[in-house]
Amino acid sequence: MHAPTHEAYAELQTAFDHFNKALFSGVLELPLFTLQRERRTYGYCSRQRFVSRSSGALVDEIAMNPAYFAVRSIRETLSTLAHEMVHQWQFHHGKPGRRGYHNTEWGAKMEAVGLMPSNTGKPGGKKTGEQMTHYIIDGGLFDQACQALLTEEFTLSWLDRYPAERPAPPRLPLPRKPLEPGADPEDLDDDDAQGIEGGGDDLVMVPGVVLPPLEPVNKSNRVKYYCDECKAQAWGKPGLHLFCGGRTQTRGEELIALTHGPVAMRPID
Ligand SMILES: [Zn+2]
Ligand SMILES: [Zn+2]
Repeated sequence: MHAPTHEAYAELQTAFDHFNKALFSGVLELPLFTLQRERRTYGYCSRQRFVSRSSGALVDEIAMNPAYFAVRSIRETLSTLAHEMVHQWQFHHGKPGRRGYHNTEWGAKMEAVGLMPSNTGKPGGKKTGEQMTHYIIDGGLFDQACQALLTEEFTLSWLDRYPAERPAPPRLPLPRKPLEPGADPEDLDDDDAQGIEGGGDDLVMVPGVVLPPLEPVNKSNRVKYYCDECKAQAWGKPGLHLFCGGRTQTRGEELIALTHGPVAMRPID
């Protein structure tokens, strides 16, 4: 067996070389790949993030998040690599926006290489902005280049067994959560995970992969109790028998007392 480290990174390098030739006429400099579990991010590109101890050479970082490898198709994961390569192209051959802002020049290059910018990952989304992902244009340059690569028995061999999210519908039901705004470091751009986009690709679930639960686990182990009489709520350990005698609420300056005889509160989830 190959060393897993070598195998995982060599595959990313192979894909980079392929797309550099096919989509960028080979103008991109070699980056240093990292695998990062940045929250709600498929990948990012950080300009000149590494410096060579011996030569002082500066090298860009392209980070990929393995926590999404098992729940997106290889094609979708590779589209994130190409997205980051468009940022790398813009860092050195264009005019990047501040703080990784996805500007119109970036968007035009994305479209030229066959990726449609979209803040939702779906048709009709905004094409510029801070938080941005994309979808693959059917029959576009990326689509063709990716098909060619995948017929060469290319694969991404190593998957994080504990994915960050469940696969997108219609593959499996996925509750959507709003994206939390996060602070981006300077010159760092990310392909944001807007809920897994589900490009319609077949997804092969790999045995051994453990999906996160459908509903978030109630870690606090506290139950909400509800009074049907005055609509008061209280939180406490499971198994309590709480009685409500009413409550006082404010409306503007006014204090309003809503009192009633003791009523058993009922636990609700
Ligand atoms: Zn981006
Ligand atoms: Zn009450």
